Amino acid sequence: MSMPAAADLPRHQMLIEGKWVDANGGEWFPTDNPFLGKPWAMIARGDNADVDRAIAAAAAAFRGPWRKMSASERGAILRRFGDLVAQNADRLGEIETRDNGKLITEMRGQLRYIPQWFYYFGGLADKIEGRVIPIDKPGVFNFTREEPIGVVAAITPWNSPLMLATWKLAPALAAGNTIVWKPSEFSSASALAFGELFEQAGFPPGVVNIVTGFGSEIGEALVTDPRVAKVAFTGGDATGEQVYGLAARGIKPVTLELGGKSANIVFDDADIPNAIRGVVSGIFAATGQTCIAGSRLLVQRSIHDQVVDGLLALARTAQMGDPLSDATQIGPVTTPGQYRKVLDYIDIARGEGASCVIGGAAATRPECGSGWFVEPTIFTDVKQSMRIAQEEVFGPVLAVIPFEDEEEAIGIANDTQFGLAAGVWTQSIRRALTASERLEAGTVWVNTYRAVSYMSPFGGYKRSGVGRENGMSAIRGYLQEKSVWIDLNGEAPNPFVMR
Ligand code: NDP
Repeated sequence: MSMPAAADLPRHQMLIEGKWVDANGGEWFPTDNPFLGKPWAMIARGDNADVDRAIAAAAAAFRGPWRKMSASERGAILRRFGDLVAQNADRLGEIETRDNGKLITEMRGQLRYIPQWFYYFGGLADKIEGRVIPIDKPGVFNFTREEPIGVVAAITPWNSPLMLATWKLAPALAAGNTIVWKPSEFSSASALAFGELFEQAGFPPGVVNIVTGFGSEIGEALVTDPRVAKVAFTGGDATGEQVYGLAARGIKPVTLELGGKSANIVFDDADIPNAIRGVVSGIFAATGQTCIAGSRLLVQRSIHDQVVDGLLALARTAQMGDPLSDATQIGPVTTPGQYRKVLDYIDIARGEGASCVIGGAAATRPECGSGWFVEPTIFTDVKQSMRIAQEEVFGPVLAVIPFEDEEEAIGIANDTQFGLAAGVWTQSIRRALTASERLEAGTVWVNTYRAVSYMSPFGGYKRSGVGRENGMSAIRGYLQEKSVWIDLNGEAPNPFVMR
């Protein structure tokens, strides 16, 4: 296949201080269309000088126009931005699909939902209130102020690029912070298209800056710069650990949304057809490239074969192909590196003795063209000690583990370093409540899976993350509380003892 020359591809500049600019070094890098397996656009390759300019712009906007605006005005701008995203949702969704290969049905759906975050947090902007504390010391008035932190570095991955950025930008901006956003090198185009709407919505220049490039080149400068007050990151746990370490150098608060090895637990009293659909949605939707993928199926031994047969029947009908077609159910894997990683894990699982009952190879169906496709894959006879049961694959690969009773199911589910999500399939309210209490996971779904909302907190236990996104509590992550003491006594007490 002939590759388009880089010079013929559309070029996307960065957004710094409200201006569209080339990278300082004048360099560009290609971004690929995973379905076609070839580049479709060029992105500016930022360096540390670009990071410096973006942070300076964000710091100036924080001290200047954004800080001086009333919270109601800031909220109105966020809501206007939500309207603009709604008007452009289908166009933005299409850019995402071209860039990361995820289904248009999913990306369009996410884009149509994203405005709700800007409406919700825009509405919250002028409801951030301090408290008057009935302090125990006579003649003293004590109250608190909730203040923004400053410049927030938002670092986002490629799998749901605009949604995961929105989870950071909406509460951070509503709280009065300013942003330097570094999108994934694999999905910067939609971030830059989003960027065009900031000015239209009325954000003053510098409130949101977008620096594109490679995390390995500019990540450290962004996270460690002393003018950056907080880091909000979504991505792999290894990078998350690195970012946490860099942020620790400056004692900076972080929000980290990392990976998972989430268990979907199907009990023998479950509505089995419903559970099968839920398990499939947990692992094959988004080609398994989601932090909340239900990549482990724990199934009660008495219904093991029935559930596996049902999964096989549904997986066999899954339509693979062009992610821009509404009919496609499984699209390509986003990057060549991820494609090789998924195939490597399939080899590792076989080598460790798991049985591959479907898939287990690259997909070579004609409708997959030259894209990076992996067949939906299911392994049975999986043991807890196997890497396929412990490590995040980030692809359409399901590990099936049988259990005898509730005690064993919870034990297996919790026996992982991650704790992002879990699914429980049962008709018993007692089982549902007991399991949801005992599972070490930030989200537990009962008789459903992969549901998220701007209203409900999302985040990880254990190695799956730090802090919460979404819901009222998310905004707390972008505020700091100040206690103000006013003496009303008018007399100076003994200066040598604590007051
Ligand atoms: P990464 O964790 O590598 O990337 C996430 C973001 O961090 C990207 O913007 C990346 O930039 C940036 N980054 C990379 N290195 C640094 C650094 N040293 N300092 C600051 N920022 C940095 O995820 P990948 O996209 O490479 O995927 C790797 C694995 O992460 C996947 O295989 C999957 O297991 C997991 N993952 C989890 C996600 C989730 O939602 N929980 C989402 C995506 C991936 P750049 O893209 O330029 O490297």
